[in-house]
Amino acid sequence: MTRIIEVAGVEVSTEHFINGERVPSATTFADISPIDGSHIGDISAGGQDEADAAVAAARAAFPAWAALGPEGRLPLLKQFAENIRQSVDKLAAVETVDNGSLLIGNVHGGMPRAAHNIEFFAERALTLNDETIDSPDVVNHVRYDPSGVSALIAPWNGPFMLTTWKAGPALAAGNTVVIKPPEWAPLTSSMMADLATDAGIPAGVLNVVQGIGEVAGAALVANPDLDRISFTGSTDTARIIGRAAADSLTPISLELGGKSPFLVFADADLDKAAQTLAMQYMNAGQVCLAGTRVFVEASIADELQLKMRQAVDKLTVGDPREKTTRMGPLIGAEHFTRVKGFVDRAIADGAQVVWGGKPHEKGGFYFPPTLLTNVEQDWEISQREVFGPVLTWQTFTSEEQALEMANNTKYGLAAMLFTRDAERVARIGRAVVAGTVWVNCFFVRDLSAPFGGCRQSGIGREGGNWSFDFFCDVKNVAIAKDSLA
Ligand code: NAD
Repeated sequence: MTRIIEVAGVEVSTEHFINGERVPSATTFADISPIDGSHIGDISAGGQDEADAAVAAARAAFPAWAALGPEGRLPLLKQFAENIRQSVDKLAAVETVDNGSLLIGNVHGGMPRAAHNIEFFAERALTLNDETIDSPDVVNHVRYDPSGVSALIAPWNGPFMLTTWKAGPALAAGNTVVIKPPEWAPLTSSMMADLATDAGIPAGVLNVVQGIGEVAGAALVANPDLDRISFTGSTDTARIIGRAAADSLTPISLELGGKSPFLVFADADLDKAAQTLAMQYMNAGQVCLAGTRVFVEASIADELQLKMRQAVDKLTVGDPREKTTRMGPLIGAEHFTRVKGFVDRAIADGAQVVWGGKPHEKGGFYFPPTLLTNVEQDWEISQREVFGPVLTWQTFTSEEQALEMANNTKYGLAAMLFTRDAERVARIGRAVVAGTVWVNCFFVRDLSAPFGGCRQSGIGREGGNWSFDFFCDVKNVAIAKDSLA
């Protein structure tokens, strides 16, 4: 009998999903809600056996899934997307209890986007094999063939949406997948398996192995029968995965951490800049893209900070299920201690607290929006990813200085730029080290556009055909002209 728990009125399996069946493990790990620290349930903790069984199931299912071709897979994947759409409210409610993200954001943002991720890549795959390159003696037919079995590993800050971002192109390309959900928010990935199965996706095509990253995740990425590893998470874990993948030379795609700069020049629309600055506290700052290093032209710094304070004052901290809440809790006790530690050490180093700076009066894992000033470039708080609602604020007097400060980290995920000067946009757009530069906007994501990180923020790009470049074996079939009957 499968082990089912009820979360926010929704039934969720706590077991693995391997070859179309629910499989338990002898050991479990506790899933805790960040909202109130309550125990949600005990989840199967997989290891080597479960990881190997899931990869074997995915391998066995691969030939038939690949043979369907993009046209054959399309109706199944469209139904999968439709099932997600029909379940948006349930998925959103469960994810909110599991990771503390805003219910309203999951209902209107994350979950509909997840459905779009599946559908977008299923449709885009139809045109993958259309390209030919004409040479003097041959016609080169460019093919995107499925590569085999992909391991998909996502973090807890948006597990369902981020996993579909990988599962969408992997499945559309004809790969079969093994998903290792984050242990701090494992539930919606379990629901994903049911939604895929209900859509008619065959057994073994989408498998889920629950467990602790260092155990189940490590066992999965060490499996030599994998053809791709797609990972979103921290830079430190990426190094470990890279070493595991090196033995079998399994290609890896890495979407990692960030310490993104947010530049505001004196000619900017300061009201819009202030509103967008307040958005950097989204998901309690647990967003890889957040512009956590704010650099402001000195002449408008006071005015902008005042406007930002007004916007931040409206960010009600509280239960993420409430409609009026704008900022929920941090994911849990360990992460809360980590975030607080960064802030405490920055203050001990001499940082001044403009707002926030200590745990929220609500208690639990709630930490308020925090702004620190009087910080130096080489301090820990300016260099390491906090992954909490903590921004630093520094001023500049020239574009060169702003750029120099913006590029002064080991990361390069995103950069936000507020200015009305088109030439400056061209100069900074070229020189800033980032995979995405948002100019006078933030968090606008077109799936056709490339997404990824430079430096230690990642390897590879997702989105558009960049996703297929990774998940497929790109092949050239060069046919001598006039050689075929
Ligand atoms: P993490 O690296 O601790 O864990 C990510 C995933 O890896 C989890 O599912 C975990 O179980 C698994 N894992 C852990 N150790 C493993 C191992 N040895 N082998 C295989 N898998 C293992 O990251 P996190 O704390 O869950 O997430 C936060 C991080 O993710 C931040 O650094 C954030 O910036 C980053 N992130 C990046 C993006 C992006 O698109 N670039 C998006 C969201 C989050």
